[in-house]
Amino acid sequence: IHLDVTKAAGKRKISELVEESLCDPIEYYNQALMELGALICTPKSPKCDLCPVGRYCRTTDPESLPVKPKKKERKIVRKKIYVLTDGSRIHMVKRGPDGLLANMYEFDETLPAEYERMESLGQYTHIFSHVEWHMDAQMLYVKEGDNFYTIDQIENELAVPSAFMPFFEEAREKLEKEIE
Ligand code: SF4
Repeated sequence: IHLDVTKAAGKRKISELVEESLCDPIEYYNQALMELGALICTPKSPKCDLCPVGRYCRTTDPESLPVKPKKKERKIVRKKIYVLTDGSRIHMVKRGPDGLLANMYEFDETLPAEYERMESLGQYTHIFSHVEWHMDAQMLYVKEGDNFYTIDQIENELAVPSAFMPFFEEAREKLEKEIE
């Protein structure tokens, strides 16, 4: 069957053939098919020379089956992350109500017009199912303002995606050293 097995037409065709081939006792039949799929007729390297049903098999290109859609390549998104701090607290921004990581908190992605100094927090790649974020983060020392949170608040009260945690840990280490 050279139909896409993830689509309705492919599923229907396979179901029809299975219905036609069912035989008693059904439990043994199921077990036998599962064993065949697990040990002999495997997707990557079917062992046709050992196959107990080889003489009934009409496949000429077993390694190309089952037909499945090609996986889409993940989109690469490069991000500049700016972790703004007033020396003890960190500025966090709430994401919008829709889409990826909705309503969670993140760092800034816009370089502020003024800051006292900048230090690198390194690079980190976070992989989602459909997209990769390649991030490069800097910590910027700025004057205090709204929406700055203590380390404790960020850890215990804000939902921060794991994608940003490596930068949070780096920033925390730097702030703890400054406070010592
Ligand atoms: S002969 Fe057919 S059923 Fe048996 S392993 Fe090869 S492809 Fe699978």
